[in-house]
Amino acid sequence: MDFEEKTITEKTSYVKGLAEGLSLGDTAQDKLIKALIDLVDDMAVEITDLQEELDSLYDEFDEVEEQVDAVDEDLEELEEFVYDFDEDIDGFDDEDYEDCFDITCPSCGEEFSVDEETLIDGSVNCPKCNELLTFDFDEDDEADED
Ligand SMILES: [Zn+2]
Repeated sequence: MDFEEKTITEKTSYVKGLAEGLSLGDTAQDKLIKALIDLVDDMAVEITDLQEELDSLYDEFDEVEEQVDAVDEDLEELEEFVYDFDEDIDGFDDEDYEDCFDITCPSCGEEFSVDEETLIDGSVNCPKCNELLTFDFDEDDEADED
């Protein structure tokens, strides 16, 4: 195996082996080499620890990413369901759920329909003869209660 392909820990072991072969003494240069090798050894241990921590974080991140994807798919399904449901409600509103009341004009006999709002207003003009028609809306009930 080439030196360049070795891991940081393997390189450190190799450098330490070389240093031992030098039989380092107490000169300034020897002390410097010993200190550097000590430093490299510490750095190799810390970097390896950090690398392992980072790898496990990546694994966790992958798991979280999978979970987020799953939730995202569920949300899309829910969105589709709500959208379809909303369309059903709209259709129901437009076609089936409108408060209309059929009126027959006492003057000309024209049949037409008014909405609830017009009925509460109490009067409407006949669309054919323009006769003003009034409705006694709940007036009697309120009078009886008094
Ligand atoms: Zn009329």
